[in-house]
Amino acid sequence: MHESAIAQSLLEIIEQETLPYAGAKVTTLTLRIGKLSGVMPEALTFAFEALSMGSRSEGASLIIEEVPLSIKCNQCGRVHIVDDPFMICPHCEGTDVEMIAGRELEIRNMEIEDGNQGSQTHT
Ligand SMILES: [Zn+2]
Repeated sequence: MHESAIAQSLLEIIEQETLPYAGAKVTTLTLRIGKLSGVMPEALTFAFEALSMGSRSEGASLIIEEVPLSIKCNQCGRVHIVDDPFMICPHCEGTDVEMIAGRELEIRNMEIEDGNQGSQTHT
């Protein structure tokens, strides 16, 4: 399953990032996921919850921000949010367009609790 592999790599990134904080627990994880990334948020949440058992991310709330697909037209300079990855400008019908958002799959923010200093935000 695609989402399991993603959840696994997220957990590995979290382990690396939280290495300096002994005993830290991840309380909230915010992800940005592009509409075109092919990731189903529900499936990712499910996989993350299952795989994080016993790790420092166990019990963390997962907040998923979906990023709409945006294209920029180099002919008229406009940016459009579109539903489908058709690379045609809806304004001038130009074909010199580029995708500027929609494929994201990244950790936007991570809140950790290190037990000593309460919670802190790590970006
Ligand atoms: Zn255009």
